[in-house]
Amino acid sequence: MFDKVLIANRGEIALRIQRACKELGIATVAVHSTADADAMHVRLADESVCIGSPPASDSYLNIPRLLAACEITGADAVHPGYGFLSENARFAEILEEHSITFIGPTSEHIRIMGDKITAKETARKLGIPVVPGSEGEVVNEAQAMKIAKDMGFPVLVKATAGGGGRGMKVAHTAADLGLALSTARAEAKAAFGNDSVYIEKYLQKPRHIEIQVFGDGRGNAVHLGERDCSLQRRHQKILEESPSPALNAESRKKIGEVVSAAMKKIKYRGAGTVEFLFEDGEFYFIEMNTRLQVEHPVTEAVTGIDLVLEQLRVASGANLSYKQEEITFSGHAIECRINAENPRTFRPSPGQITYWHPPGGLGVRVDSGVYQGYRIPPFYDSLIGKLIVHGKNRNECLMRLRRALSEFVIDGIETTIPLFNELIRQPDIANGLYDIHWLEKYLGKS
Ligand code: ADP
Repeated sequence: MFDKVLIANRGEIALRIQRACKELGIATVAVHSTADADAMHVRLADESVCIGSPPASDSYLNIPRLLAACEITGADAVHPGYGFLSENARFAEILEEHSITFIGPTSEHIRIMGDKITAKETARKLGIPVVPGSEGEVVNEAQAMKIAKDMGFPVLVKATAGGGGRGMKVAHTAADLGLALSTARAEAKAAFGNDSVYIEKYLQKPRHIEIQVFGDGRGNAVHLGERDCSLQRRHQKILEESPSPALNAESRKKIGEVVSAAMKKIKYRGAGTVEFLFEDGEFYFIEMNTRLQVEHPVTEAVTGIDLVLEQLRVASGANLSYKQEEITFSGHAIECRINAENPRTFRPSPGQITYWHPPGGLGVRVDSGVYQGYRIPPFYDSLIGKLIVHGKNRNECLMRLRRALSEFVIDGIETTIPLFNELIRQPDIANGLYDIHWLEKYLGKS
């Protein structure tokens, strides 16, 4: 096992990783920008290193500075968390060149799942069903029009380098296609420095269902069931649950087996998530995330497995702790993302938290990186915490969630808590009857 792990991240996920390290007796190193000198992840780490100024490019995304921090502290492994450098193949490679373990898959795995066209191609070769669409990049409007007409409108133009729901535009009819192509390209160029796009059939009422996988890098792999992340705004998840209200035991087993067989074939190492859209009983691959996900605690709640601890074990060369038949699922879990945002406009609301009272009690977990008096800096994403609730079935989980939300008090800034308080009372949410477009429609109406 490692002696010292450097955590190349901030906020709640940096704390989450520290907790697993502490349980294993591993020393922790926090890195931070000057804006984060007072952050909880810095206060709780064994050591900390300031790596630069507030913009992420000067700090959390700056590879030479992270390497220097490893050298100064003698860290023998780096956990990248999610976002920032977690899916940067070059970062993984550079660490390996310096004999520092990257806690994640190989740089090759990151590459084959990195850009979305290559990921779809890889998935198809591995026997995973994919969303119908162009074979690779579309180079001009005439080519795009032919593909879209053959497939039928509506279609979705997506950025090859996409992420965070950016660079995605719907064309409902042939007349919309030119504009969808040019705006998707422009958005992709601005966000990712790469204007390559491709086309997919636009599914009208799918759910977003993703499968958590784990591999040991030697051909053993398991799945840990699914998470339903269909409640989204601008293609961004806001609430996740497991199991999905839309799956039965048979479809769960079937997709789980397809995915774990694929991971065995590529000798995948570490934690990963294979994302699908699910419509009319069919699964369609959209992408794979080769890292820990924000919503991983939902899976931890229903399986009782500590995913970060398992990441650390596997990265240090151990076998998987569980065989597929040893993984059991118990009860129901829901996660709400607590963002420092206006609950209607979703405009970020940085500033000082003047009062902080998180909920507690049976089946309630709060993962957060903030505290009373903490000033949320305006430079990073607005996720300040996650409320995860577990119950013996979906009903109990919803009852508990309603209670936990009513206890949660955060003053001084705006948060998404009032929105969840509203959503939890909607019959469609209570009955699990929602698809990826439900929230946008609801927000449009109310
Ligand atoms: P990103 O990496 O930007 O998050 P994804 O490919 O994971 O992009 O898609 C994010 C979300 O966008 C999905 O969860 C879904 O809501 C929507 N989406 C993606 N592809 C399609 C599609 N073909 N049809 C309908 N919605 C889609």
